[in-house]
Amino acid sequence: MSEKEDLKQKIFWQIDKNAQKLIELGKMIWNHPEPGYYEFKTAARIKEIFDSIALPTQAGLARTGIRADLSMKRPGPHIAILGELDALIMPEHPQADPVYKSAHACGHNMQLTALAGAALGLGGVPEVREKLSGLIAFIACPAEECKIDFPDESIKYLGGKAELIRRGVFDDIQISFMTHAGGSYGAAQCSNGFVMKEVIFLGKAAHAGRPSSGVNALSAARTALNALDSQRDTFQDQDCVRIHGIIKNGGYVVNIVPEKVELEYQIRAMTPDAIRDANKKFDRSMKGAAMAFGVDVQIKTYAGYMPLYNEPELLKIHKNNLFTQRPGTEFIDFGKRTSSTDMGDVSAIMPAIHPYAGGWEGVGHTPDYHWKDDRETFVEPAKVLAANAVDLLYGDAETAQKIAKIKPRFTKTEYLAFLDTFNREEYFSSSGKE
Ligand SMILES: [Zn+2]
Ligand SMILES: [Zn+2]
Repeated sequence: MSEKEDLKQKIFWQIDKNAQKLIELGKMIWNHPEPGYYEFKTAARIKEIFDSIALPTQAGLARTGIRADLSMKRPGPHIAILGELDALIMPEHPQADPVYKSAHACGHNMQLTALAGAALGLGGVPEVREKLSGLIAFIACPAEECKIDFPDESIKYLGGKAELIRRGVFDDIQISFMTHAGGSYGAAQCSNGFVMKEVIFLGKAAHAGRPSSGVNALSAARTALNALDSQRDTFQDQDCVRIHGIIKNGGYVVNIVPEKVELEYQIRAMTPDAIRDANKKFDRSMKGAAMAFGVDVQIKTYAGYMPLYNEPELLKIHKNNLFTQRPGTEFIDFGKRTSSTDMGDVSAIMPAIHPYAGGWEGVGHTPDYHWKDDRETFVEPAKVLAANAVDLLYGDAETAQKIAKIKPRFTKTEYLAFLDTFNREEYFSSSGKE
């Protein structure tokens, strides 16, 4: 056995020694689901794990984020292992928190144990500091599940990773990786980014039996959505555009001409240009309908997440380490995935991966999503992440040095500037009122 493999075995032994603790952690987080930017208890528990191996820790990053650093004796590249702290809002879930109405229907409790277990394994074997070079940052990130809800004025972006990037938490990091709960083992080549929209049509109320003095905001909204739907055939197949939304308020009572109608929409696509193009067509549809009916429309746009690009060189390393844990596992290429993650934001500025660890049954984002086996879910993924870190930083960290040279699509400044082109509010008046 090579020295590197021997080191991995010691780390795996250390993780196995903590298996019961990790299983309890995974279940504790499952039973205390907290929504994005409110993950205070979850973050405190993760911090306790980092403190138990005396890693220097920064807490309260973008309210709840935590970063702990394991520095090697020799300098070298800085890499990050990530986990996501938040749960989804899902009041109908049997484990939903009675106040927050949140539940871990995306399985983030699993990836937090992978993060904690990797820290316990790597931080608990003294030789790691001798035999690797550089630094491993363990970062628990807030708010991955997108919702339009800014808890305070310090938060500028919907996604926790964008917020951490803005605050400089990733400034010294050159490579990042994580793992996410899934029904199967695998990874997409790329996945959609998105922007969020809030639209309010403002017409004029009237008695619905004598509507001629009113201006129907719902008619304007329906026309806007028809205009939007009619433009779907202009989208390119390879851009995987998905535009979907809800009418949050379609009027108050049936016998009044609706005066105010509110929509919330999400616009997803595979490239920054395609997101921009679909966003433009969305806005045109809203304004065109407002003009047709003589109503006002307010359009708020929120920067969402960037398209994810999984770096193939990192995926190769991850797959090898997964196959060591689970020989014969099928690792599925999910191709282009039309859902989204804010790991896309990290992948926009550095080589990164977001592969899925299987072993969950039911459908993600529904109440029946649950893991099957405790060890497969809460122990093995930690070993895979820890082994990835060893492969990247072993010796003089040649592998990480090589991968860190792969040019990202954006610099941090370009990325933040791109996000900020979306964060805006527009009021388009066709009513004649100002
Ligand atoms: Zn999710
Ligand atoms: Zn998730």
